[in-house]
Amino acid sequence: MHPYQEEPLAGHPPPVIVPRADHSISRANISPNALKVLYRLKDAGYQAFLVGGAVRDLLLGLHPKDFDVATNAHPEEVRKIFRNCRLIGRRFHLAHVRFGMEIIEVATFRAAHTEVDEDNAVDEAGHRVLDVHGRILRDNLYGSIEEDVWRRDFTANALYYNIADYSIWDYVGGVPDAAARVLRLIGDPETRYREDPVRMLRAARFAAKLGFSLHPDTEAPVRRLAYMLDSVPPARLFDETAKLMLAGSGLASFDLLVKLELLDHLMPDVARAVAEAPDSPGARLLRLGLENTDGRVRADKSVTPTFLFAVLLWPAILRAAGAPLGPLPDDPQLLGTACDEVLGRQLRRITIPKRFGLPMRDLIMLQPRFERRSGRRALRLLEHPKFRAAYDLLLLRAASGEVDPEIAAWWTRLQELPEAERIAEVEGRPAEAGDAPRRRRPRRRRKRPAAE
Ligand code: ATP
Ligand code: MG
Repeated sequence: MHPYQEEPLAGHPPPVIVPRADHSISRANISPNALKVLYRLKDAGYQAFLVGGAVRDLLLGLHPKDFDVATNAHPEEVRKIFRNCRLIGRRFHLAHVRFGMEIIEVATFRAAHTEVDEDNAVDEAGHRVLDVHGRILRDNLYGSIEEDVWRRDFTANALYYNIADYSIWDYVGGVPDAAARVLRLIGDPETRYREDPVRMLRAARFAAKLGFSLHPDTEAPVRRLAYMLDSVPPARLFDETAKLMLAGSGLASFDLLVKLELLDHLMPDVARAVAEAPDSPGARLLRLGLENTDGRVRADKSVTPTFLFAVLLWPAILRAAGAPLGPLPDDPQLLGTACDEVLGRQLRRITIPKRFGLPMRDLIMLQPRFERRSGRRALRLLEHPKFRAAYDLLLLRAASGEVDPEIAAWWTRLQELPEAERIAEVEGRPAEAGDAPRRRRPRRRRKRPAAE
């Protein structure tokens, strides 16, 4: 057993305290607003720590996405200290302190499982009053930092940066694990996965994002327990899938999901299509699409679940359309049926909100229209609201070898032509004077679009 984890819950071993001189976290890299919150809590006499992903990322020299604070002040007490503060959550577990666009989340220390009991009555101070049988209870909803540590998932996610002296409190060996780039679940892995199967997806996400390896004990039960994802609410799986795929490490995450046999439960149709034909154009498109998406995230460009799910489901749709090795059959009805079948089955696992699912279907259904390169119908495709995204998918289909690259090149050229010459192009003749559009619009060249 890990030396830091002996008897974790009995008698709480003291933390290893890493003094400021012995670690690399500098206040210069902490959000000034988070520092303000930490100092104000400390000055009001409370414990105040930076926690979770922020400490981990700072220790690794990365830029944290957000800065979360943990304290022994109760939410009501936090609210009294900050004017710009709102309590959130059904039972007011959390306080949000707002500074313009930035929100600092302040959580009161709490013990494991307190969230499960949210439906029980809780008094103002956060003490549970009645249990399900109406019996009076007074066990505290909130806890000490010692209890707060053990409810967290991975050792690297359970570090506390103490604003009082800038030291790191490490109860679980997170500092050495982070240095060794090892992702290790706190406590008994099987128990922790059973408590919350989403931790298996989180393991894949953090390993992919941070380039960590899974500790063998953390990896061992995953394949056996993967089926437990089947009972996770599909809405939560949408959020988790978006985080896995749209945070800059989508391809690495995908590969880990396959390796850990989690994809079989998250996206069974996709898992099957990719396993049966790993070198097919569909599987190649999925990888290229995720790679593009990762590039866009790193370049701070926008990404959407619409395009993401089109890319992820593409091999499954080809397979359902009876063309697992491509190309897409030129039959809109067949395509529509395949698309609805795959999407319908996927929706049972992951709630893809309609605002993403419907346009996703559109951009897939537009694909056969790229084959027709003559007549005004081709020109009208350019004006379709989903043209841009559909064209991006076409480029991926060409790059993966499913579509003749000449077709994609033709559509690229068409967009770059002045409007007057587009008509001649779709009519297959040289441009004439009369081709000029009647109403003169300012000639705006379409920029060559990148993946949505
Ligand atoms: P990111 O940079 O992706 O936000 P993060 O570590 O901050 O990473 P969050 O999902 O924001 O991850 O969660 C914040 C912290 O809350 C985690 O670091 C972890 O300590 C704890 N946590 C979140 N989800 C769970 C969970 N399902 N089980 C146990 N602990 C969790
Ligand atoms: Mg976070």
